[in-house]
Amino acid sequence: MVSIDRDKLYDGLLGLAIGDALGVPAEFMTRKHLNRKPITDMINGGCWDQPAGTWSDDTSMTLATIDALNKNDWIINKDTLIDIMINFVKWERHGKFAAHENRFDIGNTCLEAIDNFSVNKNPYTCGVTGDKRCGNGALMRILPCIYIESDMDILSVSRLTHDNETCDLASLAYTAYAKELMNGKDKYEALGVIREIIDKNPAYNKTLYKLFNNVGENEIYSTGYVVDTFEAAIWCVLNTDNYKDCVLKAVNLGDDTDTVAAIAGGLAGLYYGKDKIPTEWVSTLRDIGTLKRICFNE
Ligand SMILES: [Mg+2]
Repeated sequence: MVSIDRDKLYDGLLGLAIGDALGVPAEFMTRKHLNRKPITDMINGGCWDQPAGTWSDDTSMTLATIDALNKNDWIINKDTLIDIMINFVKWERHGKFAAHENRFDIGNTCLEAIDNFSVNKNPYTCGVTGDKRCGNGALMRILPCIYIESDMDILSVSRLTHDNETCDLASLAYTAYAKELMNGKDKYEALGVIREIIDKNPAYNKTLYKLFNNVGENEIYSTGYVVDTFEAAIWCVLNTDNYKDCVLKAVNLGDDTDTVAAIAGGLAGLYYGKDKIPTEWVSTLRDIGTLKRICFNE
């Protein structure tokens, strides 16, 4: 039986959900626009026109994953993977795991994988393949895998939607780094595990260069391409020294604001702990009861 430290899980989950909710009203805004008018608090509006504190697909798919893991004692096998996909279907069709059961966004590749699963019911083949399908939709929901030991098991969760090598490496590198932060390792020292995972593939030399040389903001892109999202999220953790600044920096990079802030926020939550998250943001977050209920398996 895998032992789950639910308090630590909540550090990461709350960090992720709040980053997500801060980014939702700014999604697709450019960095130039946000430089002039930065996000500094939870607000409503934006292209989705949601109330302040509303989380999106990033948090919903993470919750759907935790719920399925709870049901299966956090052991990854075919039944667990099927339960995760069934939860994704419930989210897509009925809004389960969405804030107040209102789903308003979904990524193209995730939708395609959910449709594939609805037809073939096979969690090993529903993920969308192809080198061009490198969005951040697997990375944004992989945080619960901090409690999954085997790389192959983590990959089987990641590949449920995005089945290609680039997304594989991002999911593995992110969970490995998150595990280090969760265990109290210094955020710079922890970078070593990212190097170990992506060093073997020269295609990612540039990513290592960016993370280890602390490049300027102009070399960081915050698009939905998984490599950009991954680099941006780690860069925000490295270039700030508290939760609040980390997620606000992530949002104000612009473009895929909610996902970059969710991924950075998950790491910052694990690193600094939930008590360092501004209390006014925690109280503005919508439907926090669902978050707690699933996290603590109540
Ligand atoms: Mg989203």
